[in-house]
Amino acid sequence: MDKLCIVVPCYNEEQALLYTNKELTGVLDRLMQSGKIDKASFILYVDDGSRDSTWNIIENFRKQSPLIFGLKLARNTGHQNALTAGLLTAMSHADMVISIDADLQDDVSVMEEMVDLYLKGIDIVYGVRKRRDTDTLFKKFTALGFYRLMQLMKIDVVYNHADYRLMSKRALKQFSLYKERNLFLRGIIPLIGFSSVTVSYNRKSRIAGKSKYPLSKMIYMAFEGITSFSIQPIRMITELGLVIVLCSICAAIYAFYSFVTGRVVAGWTSTILSIWFIGGVQLLSVGLIGTYIGKIYMEVKERPRYAIEVNDLTEKKHEES
Ligand code: UDP
Ligand code: MG
Repeated sequence: MDKLCIVVPCYNEEQALLYTNKELTGVLDRLMQSGKIDKASFILYVDDGSRDSTWNIIENFRKQSPLIFGLKLARNTGHQNALTAGLLTAMSHADMVISIDADLQDDVSVMEEMVDLYLKGIDIVYGVRKRRDTDTLFKKFTALGFYRLMQLMKIDVVYNHADYRLMSKRALKQFSLYKERNLFLRGIIPLIGFSSVTVSYNRKSRIAGKSKYPLSKMIYMAFEGITSFSIQPIRMITELGLVIVLCSICAAIYAFYSFVTGRVVAGWTSTILSIWFIGGVQLLSVGLIGTYIGKIYMEVKERPRYAIEVNDLTEKKHEES
């Protein structure tokens, strides 16, 4: 039977953890009772360098139950890094992993559906929020802006999906090949490939404690997401340069016409033409240099070029042996 690990990144979550642990162990117990997952399934709490008693609480859980494990990071490294640490650690001990935030804003009751889909052979199950009733108008507005911006930058993200998802071992293995430091999981996971589906639920408000994602961090995250994923901004600069060069040609025609009809002050024609033309050429050149930098950037990441889903040759070897 397949083993499940629930990975929970925690940063200063002392107020939420007690309730979270009760809920999560409940779900895990139910899933084990129903025979859908192995009895050795477990929960992995990742303490992202918390300054409160989060780690003590996790250690206590550990003493009380064999289903619980902890991973303590030496300092605060941010949600995405903490989650990655958890996923990569869990990878070698479980067949599937579900990641969920410690504040349980995401509905734990859809975990069963996720596992059912995994058992049907799906590799990645995305948890997607149906409505945003509990979010403030401000959060709704900024979230919408985020997805629009991602679309504009041609980054493929699953709409209304945060980091609540199930991944199979082979999807995790493929994920581990993405060696980049600038992590934006929501952008990387869809690149992995394999079969994926979404399950939807209503997002709740935080059970306790405060959000660790103020507006400044959200803007930073969007900026990180774009700059670590897309060279679209560079392309835009190049395009703008091209448009301006084209404009300067139109301006040249107009200036020449004005010059011929004698309606201009001396020196205007040459000045205006230089400004447009030089501006355009400069922007185009910056864009061109940027394009090379963009390529270096993509090379440096050393992302895997493909993921193999079925390989008949290895299966043949199994049969022979
Ligand atoms: N988190 C973390 N490290 C950080 C910030 C947050 O591990 O530096 C965790 C946090 O404990 C929670 C999850 O990431 O489990 C999401 O954070 P939060 O709920 O504050 O974000 P929001 O839901 O408000 O976007
Ligand atoms: Mg939250």
